[in-house]
Amino acid sequence: MNNNFIKQRKFRQWLLMPIALITIAFGWKYRWISFIVPIVMVLGIGSLLFNRGRYFCGNYCPRGAFYDRILQPLSQKKRIPDFFRNKTFRWVVFSILFGVFILQAITPPYTVAHFGLMFWIMCIITTILGVILGIFFSQRAWCAFCPIGTLTSSIGKDEHPLSIDKNTCIGCKLCEKACPLNIPILANSSSGYLENRDCIKCMSCIAVCPKKALHIS
Ligand code: SF4
Ligand code: SF4
Repeated sequence: MNNNFIKQRKFRQWLLMPIALITIAFGWKYRWISFIVPIVMVLGIGSLLFNRGRYFCGNYCPRGAFYDRILQPLSQKKRIPDFFRNKTFRWVVFSILFGVFILQAITPPYTVAHFGLMFWIMCIITTILGVILGIFFSQRAWCAFCPIGTLTSSIGKDEHPLSIDKNTCIGCKLCEKACPLNIPILANSSSGYLENRDCIKCMSCIAVCPKKALHIS
C-alpha cells in the first residue's frame, strides 16, 4: 500500500508542479493566472477541516511538488537550521507576509491586474527564497516556516499521525535522514506516534525504513 501511495504521490506531484511553473512564468503578464496563489492558500487553510495535519503541504501543494520533483536532485540536503523552526520566527514571517498582503489588498485600484500583480510578486519572492534555501539545505527548507504550514501545524488536528513500532525499530535513523523537513522522528515519538505537527505525510521515511517500523493509516 505504501509503495502504491508513493507512486501515486509522485505522479500527482508531476501533474501539480506545472501549476507553480505556469504561475511564475506567466502570472506577471496574464494577471488572472496569479489568482492560483490565493486559491492554493485557501485550499491549504481549508485542509484544516480534514484533520490530517499538513497532508496538503506534502501531497497537494503545487510549489511543494516543484520542490520535491525538480529541486530535490539539486539540493545539497543539508540540515535545515533549527532557527527556521523557531515558533517566534515562524509567526514573525507569517505576520509580515499577511501584513503586506492585507496592506496591498486595501490599496486601490481594486482591479484584477493590481491583485494579480500582488499575488505574483508574493509568489516570486517566496519561491526564489525557497529555491535558494532548498539548494543549500533540504529541498523543503521553505516549508519549515511557510505561513500556511505554520497555520495548519499550529491550529490543525492530525488524526492520522505517523506511527512507529518500537519493538521493530533498530534506531538506524535512516528515516530521519530521508525526512525532507529533518524531523527528529525517534525523539518525537515517545508515545509510539509522531508528535511533531510539521510532518507533511510524504512517506519518505516509510519508504527507507529497513524494518518497516513506520506506518501512516
Ligand atoms: S516524518 Fe516521514 S512522512 Fe513526515 S515529513 Fe518526515 S519523512 Fe515525510
Ligand atoms: S528507519 Fe526504521 S528502523 Fe531505522 S530508525 Fe527509522 S523507524 Fe527505526
